Amino acid sequence: MISLDDVRFRYEDMEMRFDALFPKGSFTAVIGPSGGGKSTLLNLIAGFERPLSGRVLIGDKDVTALPPDRRPVSMIFQDNNVFAHLSLWQNVALGISPALKLAPEQPKRVELALSEVGLAALAHRKPGEVSGGERQRVAVARALVRDRPVLLLDEPFAALGPAQRRDMLDLVTAMQKAKGLTIIMVTHQPEDAEQAASHTAYLEKGRIVAMKPTAELFASALPGLRDYLGK
Ligand code: ADP
Ligand code: MG
Repeated sequence: MISLDDVRFRYEDMEMRFDALFPKGSFTAVIGPSGGGKSTLLNLIAGFERPLSGRVLIGDKDVTALPPDRRPVSMIFQDNNVFAHLSLWQNVALGISPALKLAPEQPKRVELALSEVGLAALAHRKPGEVSGGERQRVAVARALVRDRPVLLLDEPFAALGPAQRRDMLDLVTAMQKAKGLTIIMVTHQPEDAEQAASHTAYLEKGRIVAMKPTAELFASALPGLRDYLGK
């Protein structure tokens, strides 16, 4: 479970307030206009930002004061997930050790993760020598080796075509089922939410306006949501 308990945050002109509960093992999509605070919400959970007040709980642990590396969280972004000068293998190994100092049994975990995302044969290539979809698979493999119970995705597959996006979502959903992950994914694509997320939150102006079963949310008559979807 992830819980935001009256979390307040502010960037100069933008005040945000989040109260939300994401059950353990759930897959929630977050949609809403640009600048609404979707990335900030994930950053508050991951620890890249700290609330002005309120608490962030993961499981029953208060993580509000913990730095990102001490939270049970992995995060995947739209880009900047991979280092160009490192091989795909090394990029995945970074998930275990940022200094690439692996214990003797750990390379096996890297290889297993690479094969689970279908990259075993490309392990020694550099990110510049593979496709955009394959680079995002590296990010997923890195999350796999980290083996943290919470996975946050911030528009992870926005640069990919529809077929590749569907494949990546299938991969993430399979990971979620196998490991019981709690997932929150920001996306602008309603079909992504419909494919993968049991619940969807609509976020606007620093507030979660509604969080409901995905089909119900998309059918609901919130004026901001209708405008956002262009309906
Ligand atoms: P979203 O991901 O929904 O597009 P963000 O969480 O990135 O929204 O941003 C929410 C608001 O906070 C926006 O008004 C944005 O301009 C502002 N903001 C985001 N990051 C920063 C920052 N590092 N410094 C100042 N303002 C920021
Ligand atoms: Mg964002």
